[in-house]
Amino acid sequence: MNGRYVEASAGHRSSVLNPATGEEVATFASAGAADVDLAVSGAQEAFESGSWSQRSPRERCRVLSKAAELLRGSLQELAEIETRQTGRCLREYMAQLGRVPEWFEYHGSYAAAQGFEGRLPVVDKDHVNLVWRVPLGVCGLITPWNHPMLIAAKKISVALAAGNSVVVKPPVEAPLTVLRLAELLEQSGLPAGNLQVVPGEGPEAGAALARHPVLERVDFTGGTATGLQIQRAMAEAGRVRAYCAELGGNAPILVFKDTRCLQEAVDGVAFAAFVASGQTCVSGKRILVQSEVFDDFRDRLVAKAEQLRLGDPLSAETDLGPVISRRQLERVEDQVKRAIAAGAKALSGGSRPSAQRCNLPGHFFEPTVLTDVSTTNPAFAEEIFGPVVSLSKFEAEEDAVALANTSQYGLGGAIWTEDVRKSLRVARKLRCGLSWVNCHHRNDPSSPWGGFGQSGIGRENGPEAFEEYTTTQSLTIRTSDLAENWFGGVSVS
Ligand code: NAD
Repeated sequence: MNGRYVEASAGHRSSVLNPATGEEVATFASAGAADVDLAVSGAQEAFESGSWSQRSPRERCRVLSKAAELLRGSLQELAEIETRQTGRCLREYMAQLGRVPEWFEYHGSYAAAQGFEGRLPVVDKDHVNLVWRVPLGVCGLITPWNHPMLIAAKKISVALAAGNSVVVKPPVEAPLTVLRLAELLEQSGLPAGNLQVVPGEGPEAGAALARHPVLERVDFTGGTATGLQIQRAMAEAGRVRAYCAELGGNAPILVFKDTRCLQEAVDGVAFAAFVASGQTCVSGKRILVQSEVFDDFRDRLVAKAEQLRLGDPLSAETDLGPVISRRQLERVEDQVKRAIAAGAKALSGGSRPSAQRCNLPGHFFEPTVLTDVSTTNPAFAEEIFGPVVSLSKFEAEEDAVALANTSQYGLGGAIWTEDVRKSLRVARKLRCGLSWVNCHHRNDPSSPWGGFGQSGIGRENGPEAFEEYTTTQSLTIRTSDLAENWFGGVSVS
């Protein structure tokens, strides 16, 4: 709070538990509504002081570039913390966190290069009109546990580059890297108070932040049900404000018979589906395979799923860690049971692993391939946030597109084909905000990220995010000496 670690007003502390072993990793002060209030007041004071909001975009860019440098120097430390608090493999975090500095560099230099240069004045005979962008004020960010650092960094980097002050509520399961990020930003020259971190429970700290009357914008990533709850809370608080919601997904992957090499597609789909133990919003979930190659693809994918090594996520020998918590494990188990009761067949996995496959006590679930799913089967219709995919067969391109679009979600999607024209045609028909051809999960600070339908509103990344974190001011100046006297009569000068 305001550059210092403080205890929560109510004295509450929570534990971070390692999902692979159940061991306590750390404890932290768990914020409640009173702490959120103090953090927002501190951020408001910082914003109004101009210590950050009034700095030139170039000065802000220098601070964010320094933060990028410190983040690079802390990669190993941050990746290890992330693995301990979420159970995801260290190898994944070394790759992911290795790219996080790019978000600070991209948004910092975008702001410096063009974001605040405004645009050319519009001139007519008697007037000049000027338009420029300004920061919004205090922004509240609420972030999930599945990529604790990446998602917070995506939002914090653009919010700060645009000159806002920020209060972030990281996930209660995994708040440690966001706390460390705040330290690194302050070491880089961000004045205290402009970034406040309030780790705590969603329904307490998160809800208090969402409904706080001072915020100009709420930026949320998490489940669709929580996103709707936040929208309701904001409306009940009676305050108009901007809202960005990056919500759930149920990504289709369309594998066409003309894919260059079936094994390459199988390896790509396994990565899309099982990395992070299937706990990403764009994880490949509904695998749609053209009938001519279906049997071969199915057998290869099942073999691949059975080869994956479950175990200690810190070890380079491990392919899959646990899911985040007991609650999440039970939820995945329940979804798979309901899918099987509704007619699905588990070709691999379907349950917790045997002690031979994984000898750790954590929340592990076997990589699971289900087939014989109708479009109403839970494995096809619901987002299963775990290492579970469904396999379906299609005949023609239009059948694949129709199946892919049979979802309330519309975040990510992928296509495997060698036909360029087909890939462009199909990508344009998919009702989703991001898609990939012959790859998956690629994310770049310059490329807009966000969904259609129940996957959310607003965009992270790119100029789109920068615009969402600023607003415009328009000024019209009369240049003519001739006074306007609309109502006529005598004008007194
Ligand atoms: P979640 O909705 O349970 O929690 C997300 C955040 O919201 C956490 O910080 C949580 O504490 C907080 N929260 C919970 N209840 C709240 C409330 N009533 N008011 C305010 N805040 C509250 O989600 P999760 O389980 O942490 O994350 C998984 C979900 O996130 C999945 O559905 C996944 O698809 C989605 N996700 C989406 C994206 C994207 O870019 N679209 C990225 C990652 C995750």
